Amino acid sequence: MAAIVVQEVGVLDSERELLDVRNPADGRVVGRVPNEGPKVVADAVTALRAAQTAWEALGPKGRGVWLGKLRDWLLDNESRLTDVLQSETVKPRAEAALEVPFICDVINYYARNAPAFLADEKVRASGPMSLPKRLRTVYRPYPVVGVITPWNFPLAMPGLDIVPALLAGAAVALKPSEVTPLSAVELATGWAEIGAPPVLRVLTGAGATGAAVVDTVDYIQFTGSTRTGRQVARAAADRLVPCGLELGGKDPAIVLADADLEHAAAGVAWGGLFNAGQVCFSVERVYVEAPVYDQFVARLTAVVESLRQGADGRGYRVDVGALANQAQRDIVERHVTEAVQAGARVLTGGKPTGAGTFFEPTVLVDVDHSMSCVREETFGPTIPVIKVADEDEAVRLANDTEYGLSASVWTRDRARGERIARRLDVGAVNINDALFNLFALTLPHGGWKSSGIGARLGGARGIRKYTRMQAITAPRGPELQEQILWYPYRPGRGRVVSRMLRAMVARDLRRRFRR
Ligand code: ADP
Repeated sequence: MAAIVVQEVGVLDSERELLDVRNPADGRVVGRVPNEGPKVVADAVTALRAAQTAWEALGPKGRGVWLGKLRDWLLDNESRLTDVLQSETVKPRAEAALEVPFICDVINYYARNAPAFLADEKVRASGPMSLPKRLRTVYRPYPVVGVITPWNFPLAMPGLDIVPALLAGAAVALKPSEVTPLSAVELATGWAEIGAPPVLRVLTGAGATGAAVVDTVDYIQFTGSTRTGRQVARAAADRLVPCGLELGGKDPAIVLADADLEHAAAGVAWGGLFNAGQVCFSVERVYVEAPVYDQFVARLTAVVESLRQGADGRGYRVDVGALANQAQRDIVERHVTEAVQAGARVLTGGKPTGAGTFFEPTVLVDVDHSMSCVREETFGPTIPVIKVADEDEAVRLANDTEYGLSASVWTRDRARGERIARRLDVGAVNINDALFNLFALTLPHGGWKSSGIGARLGGARGIRKYTRMQAITAPRGPELQEQILWYPYRPGRGRVVSRMLRAMVARDLRRRFRR
């Protein structure tokens, strides 16, 4: 698989040390990256800041040309990039192979639409006081955006945020997870190989490197745990820089008695086990209406039992891969063990398997809301199922959590599904599907409650979030240059102006303002 990669960072730091990147299946070291210290980070951000002005001046079309070249480079190198990604994650090929096309889709959508999304907006006067002026809202980028990402999607996760940020005209400092930094390093290599302006830097390292990024950039887009997200938000607040946070989840699925049970069982299995359950909005709890509970559980168990687990490189013979590291496997094992000790039953799976960090795809029943497997984010291949009396109980339990990322509702009655969606305290609801909303780039993707602040994507909002709004006023025309309402410091003007104003405002208050 991938050769050892050592990122070239250009600026050397006396505290520079290397971090090993390991294949989770066999513990082999598959790469090494620098653990960058604060000086390297600060110097990199200074260089990004210097390069950003020319990048902004290129305009959205000009920047789109470079993103298009990156897309072509990604497609030219797709197979090798997928190898690298698998080497640091042990994802099944079918899952690893999604990441390059996904980023390309993001590039195409935002590059095509950036000129319209970032166009100046003519705004109308709000009343007679602003009438004499030409008014514009202009979208100007934050100079340097820091993107900090976790290990679950080493290429797609950075891509999701750096693409709109770059297209907005910002320079980007990307800090990938220390567990899976090799794919991000490849992104930086691609950016350099196409000869693009130096507005993207990958700064590898552990948490302290991320903290150094937070300390220097102008906007932070963070994806990771709720615990670290809170630290990032506090550090950002200290510096008065904005941040977008996409954090943990404990996403419920609600299976109603009128659902197509075969479809629901397959969908819930996929939603819970895709990427071995290491997706922030994967299905982590299932509530099933009593009349179909036994039938649904039987079908779900059959689907999960039929899945093949392991690592087979470029083959397509496995469905479920490994967990990112030992610490993650320990969390999953703890949740299952604690549930069983408290009376839950394992219908399939339930334990670590093989070498490395594999954990069997697991279905748990007889669970309740006192158990860690229902309350805490598991981020693993476990699906706890709970029987509920009706829709109201399902909604109440689904909302009984500190998280609020997404949910799914399974029913043949779409109107009922949509009605339930509006009762759920989450950022997205998929009816008769799981995970889908992320693929619709025109929809916002963000969590409520402890699952985050703000959202990514969502059409124009997804690119404008990396910009600051600037208000520009100018005289409507040369003949109006003299019509300076707010300029009383001329002989006789003060009285005239205040009389005029009083008259105008009074008139406006009596009848609706018309232009
Ligand atoms: P996960 O364990 O799911 O990756 P973390 O929240 O621990 O979640 O890490 C997500 C990302 O945040 C990683 O790139 C990590 O290195 C980085 N990180 C960890 N601590 C901090 C911090 N204090 N400030 C900024 N980034 C951090």
